[in-house]
Amino acid sequence: MSVPFTGGCRCGAVRYECSAEPVQVAHCHCRDCQYAAGGGYSTIAIVPRDSLQVTGEVKGYEDAGESGNVVRRQFCPTCGTPVFSEPEIAPGIKVIKAASLDDPSWLVPQAHVYVGHAQPWGIPSDDLPRFEKMPG
Ligand SMILES: [Zn+2]
Ligand SMILES: [Zn+2]
Repeated sequence: MSVPFTGGCRCGAVRYECSAEPVQVAHCHCRDCQYAAGGGYSTIAIVPRDSLQVTGEVKGYEDAGESGNVVRRQFCPTCGTPVFSEPEIAPGIKVIKAASLDDPSWLVPQAHVYVGHAQPWGIPSDDLPRFEKMPG
């Protein structure tokens, strides 16, 4: 893995550079992430918010999240790629959708989270720990 790492949306209108290693990488099975992924779960990388430099306009949509806490979901208004989310409860972090990295291959997911909302067909058969919510 290499820092800084870069990424953006599919069309290139939104770009970012991140100067820190992710503090956590997980497969999130919450319903919001299912909508964002168009599938069973989103793989997410959590980084310190001040390590991220973003260029281009993202659009935001706020939902209450599975926990009842507001999460601002940010996506490219041109191509619709979900790129970030910002949990209001944790202003110091930003969540990057793994697929938006230019090279997502080096990420090492550590857990499945919000598995209570997982689809019966949506959990890969691996040995990663599973959590009902976000651990810690
Ligand atoms: Zn785009
Ligand atoms: Zn989620």
